[in-house]
Amino acid sequence: MTKLILSVIFSVFTLKADASINPLFGPGNDFFERYKELLVDIRTQRLTPEAAKAEFQDIMRLLRENYPNHIPETEIDNIVFPLVGSNLNAVGGYGRGFYVRNFNLFDYSVNGSHPAHDIFIYDPNQDCIDDRKNEFIDIVSVGHGVVLATEKAWSDTSSYRGGNYVWVYDFERGGLWYYAHHRKVVVEPGDIVKPGDKLGEVGRTGFNAKQPRSDTHLHLMYLALDEEFTPVPKNFYSWLQNAKTISKSNSADQDEFRIFKAGSYEFLKAITFDKIYSSRKIKAFKPLKMKKV
Ligand SMILES: [Zn+2]
Repeated sequence: MTKLILSVIFSVFTLKADASINPLFGPGNDFFERYKELLVDIRTQRLTPEAAKAEFQDIMRLLRENYPNHIPETEIDNIVFPLVGSNLNAVGGYGRGFYVRNFNLFDYSVNGSHPAHDIFIYDPNQDCIDDRKNEFIDIVSVGHGVVLATEKAWSDTSSYRGGNYVWVYDFERGGLWYYAHHRKVVVEPGDIVKPGDKLGEVGRTGFNAKQPRSDTHLHLMYLALDEEFTPVPKNFYSWLQNAKTISKSNSADQDEFRIFKAGSYEFLKAITFDKIYSSRKIKAFKPLKMKKV
């Protein structure tokens, strides 16, 4: 009987979702493919930087329209530390690894910036196993968001820098997180992630990250978006200082993922935002300090 009731409820919800499909995530929509294609086109320099920027702005405008950042800054929780069982001590150069000279996300030939923090594991023999913990180290989502793109096919013969990576659009902060050099990626584009959900494991993929001179780490970048949806790298070291360390990762909720892709915005708000924000698993955060570094 319970099963029957549940299936009736589920079909009502499914109908409701089908009745007003969010054009961004409906069946046959290529939203996530579009973002991945843009990343590849930038990497292979198939698009001019101007064209790539226009496409990026268009994609971000769609995301913002469909997922407006409606959470006041004062109610934004602190982030979860991106590596399980780790903390600020693992961040390279005491946070001085972040520097922006001539950052241009859309021009692959522009070098010389590191608008990111590298977060290291203890891996002298470079096999990606942390030798103090004797295991691979999980990379987790720092906040609530949706996985925009992943790369899983990097191989030793690939020349590009990011290796295997994950891009997440952050619902709370309205910007983009870029996690790079994974040995393994476990999420898919469209997955809804919560703080502490596993994205993958720390690895050495990427042209520079695979070199013996490089210690095993996660490369983590956060891009805020300005009024024109242009990406602006942010030094988020103060967020890392206030981040909460977790001892075990969660799995991204695949049911939410399916509904998210098929559902209408109103429906999604009901099942994702309201559900997530009213039943937070991780509540013991201090308010986020937005101080500038
Ligand atoms: Zn890096």
